[in-house]
Amino acid sequence: MGEIWIDFEWPIAKSYRIVSYPPAPVVPGRVTLTGNPHGPHIKPDGPVIMKRPLEVWPDLYLQFAKLEPTPENCVKFARKFGQLGTYRENADEESISDWQYHAAQFKLLKKMVDGRKLTPQSSDDFRLADIDLRLRPRRGQLKLALVPRSLLTAMKLQFAQRVSSGASVRTCEHCGVWFEAGIGTDRRADAKFCCDSHRYDFNNQRKGQQR
Ligand SMILES: [Zn+2]
Repeated sequence: MGEIWIDFEWPIAKSYRIVSYPPAPVVPGRVTLTGNPHGPHIKPDGPVIMKRPLEVWPDLYLQFAKLEPTPENCVKFARKFGQLGTYRENADEESISDWQYHAAQFKLLKKMVDGRKLTPQSSDDFRLADIDLRLRPRRGQLKLALVPRSLLTAMKLQFAQRVSSGASVRTCEHCGVWFEAGIGTDRRADAKFCCDSHRYDFNNQRKGQQR
């Protein structure tokens, strides 16, 4: 089938801020997910420019999986990469509770490959929707392109492409951060540390404790 190209452009506004709405009334047994009109929302401000975040950040999906989704952290993420693309109906705002839901989903994705605990069940849960398939010119040739319609889908697709091509996600034994390892990354598949200096620090600390 040849190389599949993720062709993804995404608007990033000059700034983002939090706007707040009254909290959701408590209805037992009912959970509102997308388009939730309650609580804090992220709203874009100022002019928008189009960027190609996946090309600048080959592990963007991991950045989102690592996100501790407080309103402040979600705004910081949006300033760098844009909104997720789960907008409220007829609005440019996104509910923080949606962000929290999706960040939790990405933490599960990361667990799927961490230590290779991938099961058919967990991969069934990983659905890719909102993708257009197009033929687009690239370097003088027509190429098959996957065109995600939201940052959320783009990050899922990036995860799927990285993992299906042999990368895995591991946890650094020194600092606990998640990092990519294996084919197509700069860490070995069995790497225990996110970087050489953490391997060095970890081994030095252990030597210190043994003394
Ligand atoms: Zn580390």
